[in-house]
Amino acid sequence: MTTIASNLQQVRDRIAQACGAAGRDPASVSLLAVSKTFGAEAVVQGAAAGQRAFGENYIQEGVEKIAVVGRAFDPALQWHCIGPIQSNKTRLVSEHFDWAHTVDRLKTAERLSAQRPDHLPPLQICIQVNIDGGSTKSGVAPEETLALVRAVAKLPRLRVRGLMSIPDHAPDFEAQLAIHKRAKRLFDQISGLGEPGLEGFDTLSMGMTADLEAAIHAGSTLVRVGTGIFGGRTYQAP
Ligand SMILES: *Cc1c(COP(=O)(O)O)cnc(C)c1O
Repeated sequence: MTTIASNLQQVRDRIAQACGAAGRDPASVSLLAVSKTFGAEAVVQGAAAGQRAFGENYIQEGVEKIAVVGRAFDPALQWHCIGPIQSNKTRLVSEHFDWAHTVDRLKTAERLSAQRPDHLPPLQICIQVNIDGGSTKSGVAPEETLALVRAVAKLPRLRVRGLMSIPDHAPDFEAQLAIHKRAKRLFDQISGLGEPGLEGFDTLSMGMTADLEAAIHAGSTLVRVGTGIFGGRTYQAP
């Protein structure tokens, strides 16, 4: 077994254990393998070990990997954009990715919708929420989230799937849990409305290598794990 394959198995075991501890069905949490800064070969190894969904932060880097691994090696792999989306990058996201987790402004969503090619299914969207209120952080404020969700739900080539958060590092499980529970409450408020356009609102993207147990305990449905699968990152892509 390769290192990536055995790391993947360990992460799956962590997810299963956390689900067990929280009384949740392990099938209710999906794993996004965050391959940013790692090469196509790492993604191929992950895919060979059964991983289907990959997350990329840097759009240009992601598009190159999608061309090499996605198109040529396994067109069934799913690609999620989890990095900031500047206006001049929306077209690349719309044309190459299946999901975007970091929409926090209507303008970005409008561009993504307008630029989504007709032959592709709607781009699946999570609205990024600044759940712990860092003043310099990306993400819409919690009190403005519902309005943005409703506006994005009206765009023809997008499908709004849920919320995403990247809380600051918290020192221990209890502190992580308290923050993740805030995101879960907001998610439940919005999904509980049962509004038209929100039928697919089923995804709460939160939890990374360091805090996936707390995120699952709070109700995450998708954890984004990089280090735990691919190892430590030795460089930051631009
Ligand atoms: C890098 C990154 C991750 C993965 O982080 P790890 O700590 O390596 O698991 C998850 N989500 C986002 C948005 C990231 O940028």
